[in-house]
Amino acid sequence: MLIIGSHVSFTKDKQLLGSVEEALSYGANTFMFYTGAPQNTKRYAINSVITNKAITKMQENNIDIEKVIVHAPYIINLANDKEADKYDFSIRFLKEEIKRVEELGIKYIVLHPGSHVGLGVEKGIENIIQALNIVLEASSTVTILLETMAGKGTEIGSTFEEIAKIISGIKKKEYIGVCMDTCHMNDSGYKIEEFDLLLEEFDQIVGLPYLKCIHVNDSKNIRGAKKDRHENIGYGTIGFDNLLKVFYHKKLDCIPKILETPYIFEKAPYKEEIEMIKKKQFNANLK
Ligand code: FE
Ligand code: FE
Ligand code: ZN
Repeated sequence: MLIIGSHVSFTKDKQLLGSVEEALSYGANTFMFYTGAPQNTKRYAINSVITNKAITKMQENNIDIEKVIVHAPYIINLANDKEADKYDFSIRFLKEEIKRVEELGIKYIVLHPGSHVGLGVEKGIENIIQALNIVLEASSTVTILLETMAGKGTEIGSTFEEIAKIISGIKKKEYIGVCMDTCHMNDSGYKIEEFDLLLEEFDQIVGLPYLKCIHVNDSKNIRGAKKDRHENIGYGTIGFDNLLKVFYHKKLDCIPKILETPYIFEKAPYKEEIEMIKKKQFNANLK
């Protein structure tokens, strides 16, 4: 079964109910959101009455809450411990964020592994492992999904080897997983056109069971550009047919596929994009 959705908003007043309603308006059967602005730490208390209404709404509309994803704010950087207070803050904030995710009844949080900002990949990975072990120590039902990155600047996690190295250091392995991002993988040098081979490689290096979510985005840049600029489905360098293979890959059935493609004329393109993916037919009139 195709589990498809997009990034949606999560507002102070409507919270999870607003996110569900937005997802339904796109014809989605899952969704992903930030629990607040991704670039700051201002967060509102979770309202359990609204959460319960949202859960009912999901049940009525066949949205499996186990497939819903939260994205951690990108101000969290677990790779850099140059300044102890910032490193501690990242750890503390991720812990708090996970509590919110738990309160919402959601199982997965996607995290950018981090940027080593000059410390080197080795040290960066060490810092990430140490931080994740601290975060996971507090018992929890939430699984952290490490996102595959484009390799922009000093980003860690742009190769399967780096992701595998992080996982190897995690004590509670049942609470760690991976979220692939097709735009990021393309920009880091992987061939999305040869997705079967790519999955095999991932299985050998990381292990396919760790894969719990895929961000399916086209890319504005050529393979290996190390850029990370998302493009609408079928409008970028990866192309519609190659992305369709990702959406409908047999081995990835039931793994949530999330669109993080850019707005078109300040409007969310997700309803139209989901429609063309379901129809398996490219719509050249989106922009
Ligand atoms: Fe991300
Ligand atoms: Fe992503
Ligand atoms: Zn990206």
